[in-house]
Amino acid sequence: MKKTGQTYFCEICRQKVVVIEDGFGVLVCCGQEMKLVAEKSMMATWTSVHPKPKDGVIYVCKECGQKIGVVEVTTGILECCGQRMQRESDN
Ligand SMILES: [Zn+2]
Ligand SMILES: [Zn+2]
Repeated sequence: MKKTGQTYFCEICRQKVVVIEDGFGVLVCCGQEMKLVAEKSMMATWTSVHPKPKDGVIYVCKECGQKIGVVEVTTGILECCGQRMQRESDN
């Protein structure tokens, strides 16, 4: 299943990301798998406030090419494929 456009969040630190480019890796934050925010859950209203990253920071996984935009920034460490995701540079 394509993850592109899906919103994921971390239950521990509440960091929230939107998948920009799908990858085979599993998104991890704070050492645990990030949860998919379901469309018709109680999270719906909460998510619709920031449906797409605007000036958000983009992170990429060098392993699987997964790219995410952070819409709710916390201090949680984002990982994919067992390594820290790299912040995409502006240039
Ligand atoms: Zn990955
Ligand atoms: Zn976290």
